[in-house]
Amino acid sequence: MALLISERIARKQLVEFGRLLYERRLTFGTAGNLSARIGTNQMLITPSGACKGHLKEDDLVKMSISEGKLIGEGRPSIEVPFHSAFYKHRKDIAAVIHTHPVHCTVLAVAGIPLRSALTPEGALVLGNVPLIPYETPGTDRLANRLIESMGEANAFILERHGAITVGKDLAEAFHRIETLEFAAALQIKSVGIGGGKELTRKQISEVLSFAGRQKQ
Ligand SMILES: [Zn+2]
Repeated sequence: MALLISERIARKQLVEFGRLLYERRLTFGTAGNLSARIGTNQMLITPSGACKGHLKEDDLVKMSISEGKLIGEGRPSIEVPFHSAFYKHRKDIAAVIHTHPVHCTVLAVAGIPLRSALTPEGALVLGNVPLIPYETPGTDRLANRLIESMGEANAFILERHGAITVGKDLAEAFHRIETLEFAAALQIKSVGIGGGKELTRKQISEVLSFAGRQKQ
């Protein structure tokens, strides 16, 4: 179960991680959107058309998760349907980040699945990364495609569009989008020089069981 945080802290964190996404060049122009769950049926989401590098706490828009209705004022991101879908279908999720990082989007445009297991870190942090078939941004159809494929995955490539990561909090979702972009860059560059082979199943299960033991 995700840990719920207060609205005040969520507003601060959304501004902070929005700025980090922009400064780390994980988002460009006004693209992308991020949200945090602040109650079992409420979320805060970034406004439509705003640069994530310059958000203010009051810009964030409060919505009900089950009805997708506005609470108070503001014009939310058009991607409310898939943000709500993650919170409705996965109780372990309290943060969603969607951006168009360059290397993730190169794979998305080419329709090539991300190979997360090129390195032990990729296998561990990202695991399986579904490639979601193209649907028009902002539609329930895109949200439904994600519902169909979300399982327990924490990172997604959206065909011809960009990427999504989720987490128990914004820090976790941020680490995942940064790792996802790094993995996509590694894949494109290593395939370009004739490499790009993933770890074997045995190597992956050894990494996962070793990391599991370290946590205990
Ligand atoms: Zn997008």
